[in-house]
Amino acid sequence: MARPIVVGVLAAALLIGGAAHARAQRTSADYTEPYQRRAFAIYKTIVEMRTAEGQGRVPAMAAYLADQFRQGGFPAADVHVLPLSLPSGEQTASLVVRYRGNGASGRKPILLLAHMDVVDARREDWARDPFTLVEERGYFFGRGTADDKFGVASLTGTFLRLKAEGFVPTRDLVIAFSGDEETGMLSARALVTTHRALTDAEFALNDDGGGGKLDESGAPVAFFIQAAEKTYATFELTVTNPGGHSSTPRPDNAIYDLARVVQRLEAHRFPVAVNDTTRGYLEAMARLTPGPTGDAMRRLAADPGDRAAADVLWALPEEVGITRTTCVPTMLRGGHAENALAQSVTVTVNCRIFPGEAVDDVKATLERVADTKGLRIVQRGEAFPSPASPLRDDIMAALTATVHARYPGIPVIPTMAAYATDGREVRSAGIPTYGVMGLFMKDSDQFAHGLDERVPVEQFFGALEHWKGLLSRLAGPGER
Ligand SMILES: [Zn+2]
Repeated sequence: MARPIVVGVLAAALLIGGAAHARAQRTSADYTEPYQRRAFAIYKTIVEMRTAEGQGRVPAMAAYLADQFRQGGFPAADVHVLPLSLPSGEQTASLVVRYRGNGASGRKPILLLAHMDVVDARREDWARDPFTLVEERGYFFGRGTADDKFGVASLTGTFLRLKAEGFVPTRDLVIAFSGDEETGMLSARALVTTHRALTDAEFALNDDGGGGKLDESGAPVAFFIQAAEKTYATFELTVTNPGGHSSTPRPDNAIYDLARVVQRLEAHRFPVAVNDTTRGYLEAMARLTPGPTGDAMRRLAADPGDRAAADVLWALPEEVGITRTTCVPTMLRGGHAENALAQSVTVTVNCRIFPGEAVDDVKATLERVADTKGLRIVQRGEAFPSPASPLRDDIMAALTATVHARYPGIPVIPTMAAYATDGREVRSAGIPTYGVMGLFMKDSDQFAHGLDERVPVEQFFGALEHWKGLLSRLAGPGER
């Protein structure tokens, strides 16, 4: 295994090490334009700030970035660090930066989203220090290299580059970086409510969702635009019983009752649901997917009532979520002594709800399916539904042209995420939101939130071209 090499050192050794590979690996030293060097310096600096929950480092990161924007020519009046106290008492912050346009398009601003916080990482768990940007074998390693300091650095680097090049957008472009996306998303909510005067926009582009897929040889497969997110909701279903001594078992028993509830849940399927995003996804994926799976995707897009097609996708963990609401038991607890009849048994059920379906309706369905007298069902925590964002021709056209400038001819496919991002808060505040991250990855390189998070070096610099292309097309002089 190669020795970890700190960025900027021993680039020559990396080139020699990379010569064994068929594809020549590029190192960060190969990217010599001033805008590339500046974006890279910002990326390195912010990856090395431990902006995880409990560390209190987000305000410092916001202040550092604010400084970069002011030095890059953005008036101080257009750079806003917005502090926020979290319920835990920790201080976080958001950053809003307005790139003033000339108003020629007559349109409302475009909001550009990313988040400054990260999931924590411990040095002893990682092969390399998670809070040092390490360049090795054509990758940048470190916590946040993908999620989402990649997004913060791409957008910051792009604003500074466009400003330096004298670009004047035809509408305002507004960066909004949040500070607690991985935990509460309260800063994103404040950005589009309390601070709405600063962030109001026609739509938002999220640099923390969507993105491209590479196959395992590194060839581009497709780009995904994330236009919807499922709603996360958790329920606890509890059966209670008077209990007693286990030497005198009674005919009714909380464990048997709950076991039957779990079996009924297993047998239940929520109905197939389709929206524009998932229909577009199924149609496009059908063209890329050989065999019965592709065939089922094509048929389900054409006819959501096709039971046989739905059954094929039901069996595929990575596809079932796009077709319907799912609820699955994730935890069990019950009983209090090995020689006592259980008085209370609980199953935790986690649901990912299709946009547009009400959380209370899902709860009522679970109750009906459980079909057990005396069963108590409670929702744990709050659920935050958000509507699917309508797919727009202008955004799809600009995005497709931008993606094709890097990777000609690949399909651009709408998708719905089964997880939540700040996009949920922005969508539910009435601003349609599209995840269009400029990062292409192999499935085998996906380590966001996990150990040894990484991105290919060339992707970091490619994302700078992605954002310049996209913003030039959506807010450049060529615009209608
Ligand atoms: Zn993220």
